Amino acid sequence: MMLSGLLGLFGAIVYGSFFEWFAHKHVMHTQRFSKLAFQRHVVDHHQTRRSLRNFYIAPEDRKTYHAGETSVVPILWALHFPLYALVYWLCGMPAAIGVALGCGLYIAGYELLHFFIHAPKNYWFQRTRLFRFYCEYHRVHHLKPRKNYNIVLPLADVLLRTLSLEDMKPEPSAPVFVPPDTGPQSVFHDSVRQLDTAKK
Ligand SMILES: [Zn+2]
Ligand SMILES: [Zn+2]
Repeated sequence: MMLSGLLGLFGAIVYGSFFEWFAHKHVMHTQRFSKLAFQRHVVDHHQTRRSLRNFYIAPEDRKTYHAGETSVVPILWALHFPLYALVYWLCGMPAAIGVALGCGLYIAGYELLHFFIHAPKNYWFQRTRLFRFYCEYHRVHHLKPRKNYNIVLPLADVLLRTLSLEDMKPEPSAPVFVPPDTGPQSVFHDSVRQLDTAKK
């Protein structure tokens, strides 16, 4: 029972990577399915958050930058209800709960990660290696929109050959915020440094 729940959760995370890849590539980056999604993502988000220009929000934009600016993905959780029902019918309630939870976590993970990637606020997790990897990974996508469609789990990017781990120049206003031996320094906007110094 516990096992089927965990398998459901794990399966949903793997599924989430492929769904994210498909939705990002075909729904958000083309007008085939939704002109609104294309407008919000490519026209609004990619145009205003360009790599090597203004990938990170400026301090003065902080108040007006909200989670959800770039997507409507929470709705996707509800749209997957038929999937949860199908899993319930085929494998039982624990598996269905695992899948629903996994999809919810993935979608919430997408929203939060994407928000904080563009909004350096000097939270502890934003200084971790993993988070800096996420930032660099997504910076490549904003430079080369046919690469790195995943935000949360780059599994689909690896298997569908859209992964790029190229080294990019730092953002123009990126500060020297972390010691050189701890990874890329380009992750943090100078607003982070200002924030950091202000705290001291
Ligand atoms: Zn983005
Ligand atoms: Zn995109």
